[in-house]
Amino acid sequence: MKSVFTTDQKIEAFLVKSYLESHGIMAKVSGKQVFNVRQSALPQKVYVLEDSDFHRANELVKELNEDKEKIQLHLSDYWKCSQCSETHEIQFSSCWNCGTSRPN
Ligand SMILES: [Zn+2]
Repeated sequence: MKSVFTTDQKIEAFLVKSYLESHGIMAKVSGKQVFNVRQSALPQKVYVLEDSDFHRANELVKELNEDKEKIQLHLSDYWKCSQCSETHEIQFSSCWNCGTSRPN
């Protein structure tokens, strides 16, 4: 597996993953499993599952970095817990980490 993106912002890593997936590229976010607030500052990496997608994924990541509007658009698919800063996909209505409800 090759990594195409590294960030210390978990939400950004998920954003890149969802962007790649919306273009038909299977991706995953790694980095250590986050169980507390302090750990969410650890670098998060985005990997493509198929090496053959690596080049295309790099292009997409570059595009994404150049187009901040796309980033805003995709960020709306995620929300960040106001209590512990954990990042969640939009379908989750409360924080798995501390139980805080998703803001409206
Ligand atoms: Zn939380």
